[in-house]
Amino acid sequence: MKEKIQENFNQRFGTDSVVYASAGRINLIGEHTDYNGGFVFPGAIDKYIMAAININGTDKVRVYSMDMDAYCEFGLNEEDAPQEQWARYIFGVCRETIKRGGTVKGFDTVFAGNVPLGAGLSSSAALESCFAFALNDMFNDNKIDKFELAKIGQSTEHNYCGVNCGIMDQFASVFGKKDCLMRLDCRSLEHEYFPFHPEGYKLVLLNSKVKHELVDSPYNKRRASCENVAAILGVETLRDATYTMLADIRDKISDEDYRRARFVIGEKQRVLDVCDALERGDYETVGRCMFETHDGLSRDYEVSCEELDYLNDVARECGVTGSRIMGGGFGGCTINLVKEDCYDNFIATAKEKFNAKYGHEPEVINVIISDGAHKVVD
Ligand code: ADP
Ligand code: MG
Repeated sequence: MKEKIQENFNQRFGTDSVVYASAGRINLIGEHTDYNGGFVFPGAIDKYIMAAININGTDKVRVYSMDMDAYCEFGLNEEDAPQEQWARYIFGVCRETIKRGGTVKGFDTVFAGNVPLGAGLSSSAALESCFAFALNDMFNDNKIDKFELAKIGQSTEHNYCGVNCGIMDQFASVFGKKDCLMRLDCRSLEHEYFPFHPEGYKLVLLNSKVKHELVDSPYNKRRASCENVAAILGVETLRDATYTMLADIRDKISDEDYRRARFVIGEKQRVLDVCDALERGDYETVGRCMFETHDGLSRDYEVSCEELDYLNDVARECGVTGSRIMGGGFGGCTINLVKEDCYDNFIATAKEKFNAKYGHEPEVINVIISDGAHKVVD
């Protein structure tokens, strides 16, 4: 990809360029834990946004998106915001860098990527992190710390793209490290790397390509349940709750709230269990926890859907080590940890059975845990 982008850049702008990249991400386990002060456990993947960049000596940014085959030019003041959605991600990163006292001057860039859009792998965070990292390297001597780079991406989503996201995606894209997953404590924002190189296994996502839009804002309802239980327990978030504490107040809360809280308390512990298992290289335990998460998301948290439960059932039937919904639910992907000797049969069976039932095949996305934001040198 690097040569192709640099060649395009050179033809278009007539100069050399420097290339930067940042990655999409998966989250192995730790779902609906962020707003409960718990842990998430993401890693960057071998799917990137890559940009060739050169300072142009003006106060304008000139951008060409190879994938959109579209060109855009904008200034660096607040009133210069472009109309094109894809360009607003880059404009937002420039603005958020400037707002934090960083320097940004005019530059030319050509970029492209292979993070599937809207599949739950956070192509938008890859795009933001790529430019946040690049601007820091080109204009600011890398003085902006990495966590701030992640926040620049997050604020871009909030202030320029209308997406009120948490910090996990940008964090994973900036901090990602080959063969490592990262446990991010959503309360303290501390993070720790854990080894993830499952020899003899593959990590594969199956994208159901369905998205169920629900009318009664299920996300807000789940949040409200969690906050309600936390308030009755007298704790700030469910991070500080235990099964015993929950059992003690069972008759004071609805069955629904009880099940929501039970999932969150279990999920916090499962992330910790997975971390322990990874330190022992015990991928069977990792897989078991993934299945437990799926069951909890499906039965207690009720954010699954028929298609995702079906993919999960097929995974079990095929002897897959671990499988679960990835992301908020109601559609999107399952993430699967699969023994190599079981992989071909699983993929063929999942495609065939899913197609027979739902009229289209799931998209197969193989991922390897890789480096996050970096300068691409030969
Ligand atoms: P995701 O879950 O993949 O982050 P989003 O809707 O948040 O989905 O972000 C997708 C948007 O990011 C696209 O609509 C586009 O504006 C921008 N984007 C992502 N990848 C690319 C790319 N390769 N080229 C141009 N724009 C991209
Ligand atoms: Mg996104």
